[in-house]
Amino acid sequence: TADRIEKATKERPYPLFLAEKAASILPSFKSEEYYPTNTQKERIIVLGTGWGAASFLKSIDCNKYDVTVISPRNYFVFTPMLAGASVGTVEFRSITEPVREINSKVRYLEAAATEVDPKTNTLSCVSIVCEGNSCETEEFEINYDRLVFSVGAQTTTFGTPGVEEYCNYLKQVGDAQQIKNAIVNCFESAGLPDLTEEEKIKELSFVIIGAGPTGIEFAAELLDFIEENGARFYKELLPYVRIKIVEAAPSILRPFEDGMKEEAIRKLTRKIELEGVPTLQPLEILTNKLVSEVSGNYVYFKDGEKIPYGMSLWAAGIGQLPITTHLLDTLGETEQKDAQDFARGRLAVDPWLRVIGGDGKIFALGDCSCVSSAPMLPATAQVAAQQGEFLGDFLSKDYCIDAMDDKLLPPLGMNADQSKTLADKIASFAMGDDEIAPPFQYLDLGILAYTGKGSALAQVQIAPGGGMPGATENWDPVRLQIKGKLGFGLWRSIYLLKMTSPKNAVLVALDWIKVKLFGRDISIL
Ligand code: FAD
Repeated sequence: TADRIEKATKERPYPLFLAEKAASILPSFKSEEYYPTNTQKERIIVLGTGWGAASFLKSIDCNKYDVTVISPRNYFVFTPMLAGASVGTVEFRSITEPVREINSKVRYLEAAATEVDPKTNTLSCVSIVCEGNSCETEEFEINYDRLVFSVGAQTTTFGTPGVEEYCNYLKQVGDAQQIKNAIVNCFESAGLPDLTEEEKIKELSFVIIGAGPTGIEFAAELLDFIEENGARFYKELLPYVRIKIVEAAPSILRPFEDGMKEEAIRKLTRKIELEGVPTLQPLEILTNKLVSEVSGNYVYFKDGEKIPYGMSLWAAGIGQLPITTHLLDTLGETEQKDAQDFARGRLAVDPWLRVIGGDGKIFALGDCSCVSSAPMLPATAQVAAQQGEFLGDFLSKDYCIDAMDDKLLPPLGMNADQSKTLADKIASFAMGDDEIAPPFQYLDLGILAYTGKGSALAQVQIAPGGGMPGATENWDPVRLQIKGKLGFGLWRSIYLLKMTSPKNAVLVALDWIKVKLFGRDISIL
């Protein structure tokens, strides 16, 4: 058993899968002690400590509810800075915040939920606790009055052979740590004696699969690392460095306008002039390239080409976690089933984020959910954070949240006007006629992407007259495209403001200063 746990803890991705694996191989152990039942307040269980959960925890009224958070990791991660952390531009500690600091009034259990039973309002969980070399698992069940399902999503490989075994992902702090070590390892291996030129090129070839914001930002950070640290520590190896961004679609950075995409390409494929080194242009972007397989040494493409690599990153898409799929199956006989054409594997929710078919007891938000009455929202921190804040406020007020009438559920894929009219109707139903519970409305403030060497893209929307999207009478935003140094200033300022705590903002700012003064740390830890 110990061997199995040890094996499981070494496998990817992350404790929740370890937990799920362990749950299937170990004998069941039930513990009632996990959950004291001496409370008169309604119990909310929150699954996850990501963007959705963190902003929910900031806005929920703990005088009204007894809140327990269950998640395999006891901290929140500021994901937009994971790419920077993976090359040492910021420290891992600076972009994480313990859940107990986010809201000290909530109870936290380090565990992964494995199943939800909506009929009995019960959650099955498993926790793995390791001390030194010894690990133990415990299975337990917990009842909830309301469940906030915010487990996020996982990286999906679309079944591409070899990706799970050989590619790095960039989703968690552990991934960023692995990547940082892998990059430095590539340089150290390439510096060993007796390597041929071809072998050096292979060691120093970095293949990034997926040219969405994550892949592009990682490439930009890697290029900065090479230009700044490489020039200092690995000068003689720089001519062997190759960075390839490969993308199955015809263009990169899908959410950005064409002019912004071109700016990103210009910045990433820039020539690098360094003293004592021939001019370098290490980065190449290959579009319309579909990966068919990855082996220990090569990335293979559908067109027959293969590229050798020293390190590869898979940043090509997200899919749903097993627990989300399991909950969908459990709700299979409800309206949730009809919603699936539109929600495509995510949990369909109504405009108040109540899971359709969940009897008003289950709410879902973030990457695992889809508001069925609005256009499909992107899987971003911006959406998850706004939903978390909305739900915390919604539950903290005295709305009649159980009221639900199937006939009033909005048809799928409505336009914003139709959805608003219907939303108002359902809201007045939910509240009685006196006060209307405003439905969730997403405020798209725009998108940002770092493109390297102190430049960034900022495609932002501001509404001088106020208002919100969906309320079309006064939502008339001005769309701005800002790039280069100004974009970079905006990128840094917005992210500092968005950090969950002032402590994190100060730590990140200090990291930036430290790197400017002393460079990045290249120890392999
Ligand atoms: P997450 O933040 O992923 O949180 C999920 C939580 O659930 C985690 O705490 C996890 O441990 C927990 N969990 C998982 N399974 C279980 C289980 N079985 N039981 C209990 N808990 C569980 N978005 C932007 O808007 N702007 C950006 O610049 C941006 N950059 C990004 C860069 C990177 C590298 C990545 C990976 C993502 C980026 N995103 C960005 C996307 C953004 O991070 C996600 O959309 C966001 O994290 C979704 O929030 P969430 O709360 O749904 O899920």
